[in-house]
Amino acid sequence: MPWRLAAALLPLELCQMRLFDAHFHPQRLASAAARETLQRAQESAVVAGAGCGCCPEDWHQLQQLAREFPDFLVPSFGVHPWWARDDGGPWLPELRRLLLEHPHAGVGECGLDGGKKKEIPMQVQQEVMERQLSLAVELQRPVSLHCVAAHGAMLEALRKSFGASHAPGLVLHSYCGSPEMVPAFARLNCYFSFSASILHIPKHAAALRAVPEERLLIETDSPDQLPRALRGKQPEGGQELLNEPQFLPLVLEGAASIRQVPAARLAELTFDNAERVFRRFAELSEKSGRATSASAACDGLRAEGLFVDLTRVRCGRGLCPSSAEAKNCN
Ligand SMILES: [Zn+2]
Repeated sequence: MPWRLAAALLPLELCQMRLFDAHFHPQRLASAAARETLQRAQESAVVAGAGCGCCPEDWHQLQQLAREFPDFLVPSFGVHPWWARDDGGPWLPELRRLLLEHPHAGVGECGLDGGKKKEIPMQVQQEVMERQLSLAVELQRPVSLHCVAAHGAMLEALRKSFGASHAPGLVLHSYCGSPEMVPAFARLNCYFSFSASILHIPKHAAALRAVPEERLLIETDSPDQLPRALRGKQPEGGQELLNEPQFLPLVLEGAASIRQVPAARLAELTFDNAERVFRRFAELSEKSGRATSASAACDGLRAEGLFVDLTRVRCGRGLCPSSAEAKNCN
């Protein structure tokens, strides 16, 4: 059945916000599943997201999805450190071509992963990242960065590539560095994006508390990092649940409680921050108008179970055959 997460799990006000998913990977799913995921995201409080490529082999699929979902998907193209090879970067011309073809696309996901240094030497990871950072300087694009157990080396590499700062912005995705390193990264114009890991890793929650509000972003990192509240769950007749952008309100809710601020405030400021980094998104949200509100995600769905059959949507007056109709039914 077509389904989405019921609002029963979420306070009503969370469903009525407009959220931006600062890091996810739709192209990692088979194309039909990716399309369904993006359609469900569009039915939720998440109005857009940054889809990040991982390797040359997935750029085409990402580009295709970005063409099909131009109002939702802001693409970035890059080589993730897990795919870094000591091959001299034969993919560089294609990366440049894609970035020129998509003037609003970012660079990434690229970065450093100390946890993988046995399989992929740090030297190789570093070279692959630096090639991409040079392109980001040349074309003045934001960069989505992966950094695990290598924050000192990352800081050094960013200073080497960007000097004092990178004006288009840098996004440290699923930030897992120390709270103490936040100011040094912030000076380079880094934004700090937090995933569901804040809900169960105290160090990540501590870093979240240390980030100035004008540098905060939230993300799902889907299809990875399914929030624990949803593990082992599955929609009726569906397959094992993977993470997807529509679950972003769970991250927002957790982040708001860790920072002890109203979720509405956090939604608004992470949305504003995303507009500063992702120019394509800023244009879109200008076009669609910030004042329009309530997503279709929640109207009258609170009494349902964890998942909602989208062929029957409870609305203000009863049951509507589609969420589009339910939206106009209050
Ligand atoms: Zn990622």
